[in-house]
Amino acid sequence: MDLQELGGLHHLTAVTGHAAANLDFYTQTLGLRLVKKTVNQDDVSAYHLFYADAVGSPGTEVTFFDWAWASPNRAGTGTVAETALRVPGRAALAAWAERLAELGVDADPIVEHAGRASLPFVDPEGQRLRLVDDGGAAGGHPWDGSPVPPEEQIRGLAAVTLAVERPESTARVLTDVLGFRFEGEAATDAGERVGVYAVGPGGPGAEVWLSTGSASGPGRGGIGGVHHVAFRAPDDAAHHAWRERIAAAGLGVTPVIDRFYFRSIYFREPGGILFEIATDGPGFATDEAMDALGERLALPPFLEPRRAEIEAGLTPLPAPVGR
Ligand code: ZN
Repeated sequence: MDLQELGGLHHLTAVTGHAAANLDFYTQTLGLRLVKKTVNQDDVSAYHLFYADAVGSPGTEVTFFDWAWASPNRAGTGTVAETALRVPGRAALAAWAERLAELGVDADPIVEHAGRASLPFVDPEGQRLRLVDDGGAAGGHPWDGSPVPPEEQIRGLAAVTLAVERPESTARVLTDVLGFRFEGEAATDAGERVGVYAVGPGGPGAEVWLSTGSASGPGRGGIGGVHHVAFRAPDDAAHHAWRERIAAAGLGVTPVIDRFYFRSIYFREPGGILFEIATDGPGFATDEAMDALGERLALPPFLEPRRAEIEAGLTPLPAPVGR
């Protein structure tokens, strides 16, 4: 066994119903880099867009399936309630409050939440997001093509908030199977409590916040919601060991799937939220030059023979700007 600790959050994947508007918001408003424009490998009629830091580091990726046919996300149990993204310090957070107001983004004032200063807002499709002061901890490579100054850029994922009907069942999988540490309860900006669970290095980028608030009834994924959350395995040996451990715990887990930019396994935690464990490598520069990431439609080798057919089924997106 080579069961190395999970390295924190790897990426999360959400759902958009409007790829062009999604691209504009995440690159031009939030200032992330489009590091890969590809298709959902299980549904090649849909874009899969990856936004990240300058080099597509694991832990900085927010990705979207473009599913115009999907129904809107309904908040509630069995879903990711909110995604927190890191910014490097309080001054950056204050700059973001001004930036979001200037750009007409639906945001609340800066508030204390789970022990950190943060700025809650929603994307144009109602995706619940929050910028968090990460205290200047290391992470993320600034992108010189971003409209946001380097000292204020989003540096990756901070935490995800899970809403589940029985938090104790989800907590047990986090701690007993996945190796998370319970770090205590913290108050939310709404006066509720979240359990803070950390893994690997802990802190922003390696936390799950488990909502222990009153259940609001079952939610349902869809446009403006999160499809799944992925955690980091450092290499293939650790990835295989994690697969064995999760299977041994009685959680139905998929075989290892080669996503070309990383390898993945998927399983559902007891609260109904889809988890993934993904390898840190090989990364997004495996089929494109680092300075040209995201500029053309990238297809993994097994889909390349179908390129003409796949491209014909996609609505062209505007070229990346800001470079
Ligand atoms: Zn994924």
